[in-house]
Amino acid sequence: MAAPQQVPIRAAPLARALRTRVAAAATSSARSPEASQRALLGLSEPELRQLAVDLGQQSYRGKQLHDLLYKSRAKHIQDFSHVPKVFREALVGAGWKVGRSPVHHAVTASDGTTKILLKLEDNRLIETVGIPVDDDKGPSRLTACVSSQVGCPLRCSFCATGKGGFSRNLHAHEIVEQVLVLEEMFKHRVTNVVFMGMGEPMLNLKSVLEAHRCLNKELKIGQRMITISTVGVPNTIKMLASHKLQSTLAVSLHAPNQKLRETIVPSAKSYPLEALMDDCKNYFLETGRRVSFEYTLLAGINDAKEHAEELAELLRKCGGGYHVNLIPYNPIQGSEYKRPYRKVVQAFVDALEARKITVSVRQTRGLDANAACGQLKNEFQKNPLLESSPSSEPNLIPA
Ligand code: SAH
Repeated sequence: MAAPQQVPIRAAPLARALRTRVAAAATSSARSPEASQRALLGLSEPELRQLAVDLGQQSYRGKQLHDLLYKSRAKHIQDFSHVPKVFREALVGAGWKVGRSPVHHAVTASDGTTKILLKLEDNRLIETVGIPVDDDKGPSRLTACVSSQVGCPLRCSFCATGKGGFSRNLHAHEIVEQVLVLEEMFKHRVTNVVFMGMGEPMLNLKSVLEAHRCLNKELKIGQRMITISTVGVPNTIKMLASHKLQSTLAVSLHAPNQKLRETIVPSAKSYPLEALMDDCKNYFLETGRRVSFEYTLLAGINDAKEHAEELAELLRKCGGGYHVNLIPYNPIQGSEYKRPYRKVVQAFVDALEARKITVSVRQTRGLDANAACGQLKNEFQKNPLLESSPSSEPNLIPA
C-alpha cells in the first residue's frame, strides 16, 4: 500500500471554476438564476480574499470572511459584525449569501442517531444523519451520513430513496452545511463523513469533490475519515481515482454475479460487473486505497453460502484483500424483501472469513427514526414544500 500521504484533490480546475464564479458574481449586481449558487460556504481562503478584492476591499477582509464561516459559523451576512457595513451590502448586492438552510425537522432514535431534515432554498428537503459512538467519557466519534442529491435516480430495488424519485443535485455548500448542522446539534465535532445518505455521489462528482475539499481543508476532517459510496456509474471511478484522494471508495455490490446484480440494482445493466471490478482494481493501483464492498443481505435472494463463496472468488480474481461490509436489509415501506436471520448472516460471514476476506456486519443504527441505511426518504423529494407549509423552526422530537 502506498505511504499514507495527504494528497490534495486536483485543485487547479476547481479553483479556476470557482474563480470564474467569484469574478462573475463580483462584477454583476443583477440577480440571475445562478444566484442560488453564490454561497460563501465552501470557498477557500484564497477565493474569499479574491472576492473581497473584487468587491473593492482589502484582501485581509477575505480572511475575516473565512473565520466567520468556518470558526464563528455565522449563518447570515448580516451577522458579519466584524466587517464593514459597506462590504456586507456589496456582498448581498452581488447575490452572495452564506449558504445555510434552516432545520425543518429532527428526530432522534433511541440509540442517539439523529436524522435532520434541512429545508433548502427551493423548499426541497434533504436528510442528513448523525451517528454518535460513545465510550465511557461520552461521544468519541460522530459520523455524518450526508446526502449528495435530492432523491436518487438509480432506483435500487431495496432502497427507499430511489422509490421517492429524483429532483436535483446538491450544490457543494448544501453538502458542507449538513456537517455543520450536525456539529451544532450534537455540540461535538464530526469525526467521520460517509456519502451514504440520499443520492448517488458519482452522479454529482463535481460538487462532491468541492465539498470534500472544504470538509478536509476548512473543517479539518482527515481524508481517511471520509468515505464515498457508489453503486457504480460508468467512467466515474476512473475519474475519482485520478484525484488520488486518500478517502475510502465504497462500492455497493449486493450480488456476486451480473445476472443477480441486475435484478437487485437495475442500473447494473449499463455497467457490467467485470468492468466495475476492473475499475475498483485500478482505483487501488492508482490511490493505494483498498476499495470496500457493501453488500445488503436480502433473505432468500443473495444471502446463501454459495453467494458468499462466489463473492470470495470474485474478489480473489480482482486481486484479493478487499473488505466486505454486510448490511442486513433494513425494512422499507412498499418492499417485499425480508431481513435475513442472524444465523444466516453469521454463515455468510464464516464463508467469507474461511476464504480470507475481512468482513464486518454493519450494526443497524437509527432504525426507529427511519434513519438507517436506505431508509432515507421523504415525501418532498420530487415536489417542493408549499410556501405555506409548517414552520421552519427546528423541531426535535423523540422517534
Ligand atoms: N448511492 C450510493 C450511496 C447511498 S446508499 C450507493 O449506492 O452506494 C448507502 C448504502 O445503503 C448502500 O450500500 C445501499 O445499497 C445501502 N442500502 C440502501 N437501502 C438499504 C436498505 N433498505 N437496507 C440496507 N441497506 C440499504
